[in-house]
Amino acid sequence: MFGSLVLLAHGIIYFIVMGSIFRARQSIGVGVFFCLLGTMHFLETYLAATFFIELPFGLISPGSTVMFTGKLAFFLLLYIKEDAEVMRQPIYGLLSGNILMIALGLLLRLYSNPASLPGYNPDLRFIDQMGLLMVWGSLLLFIDLIALVIIYERLGKLVTTTVPGRIFISLALVLSFDQAFFYLGLHHLTGVPESAFYGGWIAKVAAAAFFSLMMTAYLRIFEREPLPVQSRRAADVFDRLTYRHRYEKLAERVGRDALTGLQDRGQFDAKGAAMLQAASQSGLSLSLMMIDIDHFKSINDSRGHVVGDGVIRKVAETIVASKREGDELFRYGGEEFALLCPQMPPGAMALAERIRAAVADSTHPELQRPVTVSIGIATFPTHARVFRELLEKADAALYRAKASGRNGVVGADA
Ligand code: GH3
Ligand code: MG
Ligand code: MG
Repeated sequence: MFGSLVLLAHGIIYFIVMGSIFRARQSIGVGVFFCLLGTMHFLETYLAATFFIELPFGLISPGSTVMFTGKLAFFLLLYIKEDAEVMRQPIYGLLSGNILMIALGLLLRLYSNPASLPGYNPDLRFIDQMGLLMVWGSLLLFIDLIALVIIYERLGKLVTTTVPGRIFISLALVLSFDQAFFYLGLHHLTGVPESAFYGGWIAKVAAAAFFSLMMTAYLRIFEREPLPVQSRRAADVFDRLTYRHRYEKLAERVGRDALTGLQDRGQFDAKGAAMLQAASQSGLSLSLMMIDIDHFKSINDSRGHVVGDGVIRKVAETIVASKREGDELFRYGGEEFALLCPQMPPGAMALAERIRAAVADSTHPELQRPVTVSIGIATFPTHARVFRELLEKADAALYRAKASGRNGVVGADA
C-alpha cells in the first residue's frame, strides 16, 4: 500500500516538473525539455533493469513505470501540441547519443594502464550493458512513437472517443507492445524473472490511465490559449547573450537590398563619394555605369511582380558574374543598378559592352522574350569633378541609350 503511494508521488512530481518545462517551451525553447527527456533516459533504463518492488500483482519497476510511461505520454503531447517533426528530434538524439555511449565505452579498453585507485572501480561491463539496453530501448521507442501517432490518429477518425480515452488507448497499446520487447531484451541481458513482465505490464497500463488523465487536465487548463506575448521572453542571462547574435544578424542585413542581396542605395551614396575622393587623392579615375532593364514594366504587367522580381535577381547575378573583382555593384532603385569601377577609362566601354551582351544572352525560360539592359557611363575626372555631377552625366548617357533604341551602351559627352 505504501509502495503504491510512493509510486503515485513519483508520477505526480514527474508530471508537474516535466509539464512545467514543457509549458515554458515558448519562452525558454523546447530544447530545455528535450534535454530533460535525455537526462531521464539513463536513470529510467537503469532502474528498469535493477530496481523492482513487490506489489500484489507482481514485480514492478517504479522507474520504468513512471518514467517510461511518462516519457511516452510527453512524446504524444509533443505531437499533439507541436508536430511530428518536433517529436522526432529527441528520439534521433537519444538513438545517436546511446550509440555514441557504447562506442566511447568500447574505446575505453584501449587505455592500457588505467590507474588503480582505492575505491575507484570503473565497471566497463556495466556501461556496455546499459548502453546496449538504452540503444535497444530507444530503437523500440522509435517504433513505439510511429505506432503511437498512427494509433492516435486512427482512433480520432474511427471512434470519436473522448480525449483521455484516445490518449489512454494509444498509450496502453503501445506500452503493451513495448513491454513485451523491452522485457525480452532485459531478460536476455540481465535475466530478470517473468513476474517482472506481468507486473510491469499491469503497472504501465495503470500509469497510462494516470498520465492520460493528467494530460487531459493539462491540455484543458494550460494549453487552451497560446502564452501571452510578453511572457514569451525568458528573463535570464542567456536572453541578454542572444542580443549579440541578433545584432550581428541585423548588422549583416544593414545596407543590403533584400531582393538581390546587393548593396543598397544608401551604400551607393556613401561609398560613391568616398571612392571618388580616394580616386581624386591618388590621381586615378573612377567610372560609373547606370544600368537599367529595358521595358521592365511590361514584364511586371504581363507576368506579374513575382516573375519581375526573378528577372531583377537574375540580371543582378549576371552583372556580378561579368564585372571585375574591384567593381562595386549597387541596386540603385527598382530595376536600376549602379556599378562603380575604379581605374578603367579606356576599358570602360568594353566592360559595359560585356555586361550588356551577357544580360542579352542570359536565358529567362519564364519569359517569351530576351531581357536586355541599357547602360550609360561617365568617368571621373574626364566628365565630372564631383560625385553628383558624375551621376548626372551617367544618367544623361543612359537616357540617350534608351532613346537610341535600348540594349546599348552610351558614354557621357566630354
Ligand atoms: P524602360 O525601357 O524605359 O526602362 O522601361 P521600363 O518599363 O523598364 O521603365 P520604368 O522605369 O517605367 O519601369 C520600372 C518598373 O519597375 C516600374 C516598377 O513598377 C517596377 N519595379 C520597381 N521596383 C520593383 C521591384 O522590386 N520588383 C518588381 N517586380 N518591379 C519593380
Ligand atoms: Mg527600365
Ligand atoms: Mg527605370
